Amino acid sequence: MILYPKAYFQSVKEITISFLKENKIKALILDVDNTILDFDKNIPEGVKEWCEDLKKQGIKMCILSNTNQKEKVKMVAEKLELPYFYFATKPLKRGFKKAIKELNEKKENIAAVGDQIFTDVIGANHAKLYSILVKPIGQKDIFITRIKRPLENYVIRKYEKKIKKQTEEKRK
Ligand SMILES: [Mg+2]
Repeated sequence: MILYPKAYFQSVKEITISFLKENKIKALILDVDNTILDFDKNIPEGVKEWCEDLKKQGIKMCILSNTNQKEKVKMVAEKLELPYFYFATKPLKRGFKKAIKELNEKKENIAAVGDQIFTDVIGANHAKLYSILVKPIGQKDIFITRIKRPLENYVIRKYEKKIKKQTEEKRK
């Protein structure tokens, strides 16, 4: 299902090295807004440490953001010491292709992480990457994102039901 992520976490900080190793993921493509940066342009506590820790363990990372605000993306990328691409046009493949080239890993070993189904998840699935959805950091969204949220929440609820059902069936 193109709308469903492969994994869903409350925050990027929950993505552990053991989870990545289990799923053979060697590299991450990170979204910016509401994934590693809040509405007030702050990186939440612990995110830099999370990033540094994974990098030390050999996980490659880069930033791929749809925003056209270069300075904002650059600021985050410099703080986290990561390569970056902005104005990415997710869910289109164009931006993902640049990120894959930068990371220099096979698609099946790359996960794309983001807070939006209609850009991050669909884009990752379409590009044949491992898709990871995270809960958006802030409650405040730009107007266009706000319109999409109710529909997104509907998809997430359906997805959670499906996971629950699968888990129950496995127990049988
Ligand atoms: Mg986002």
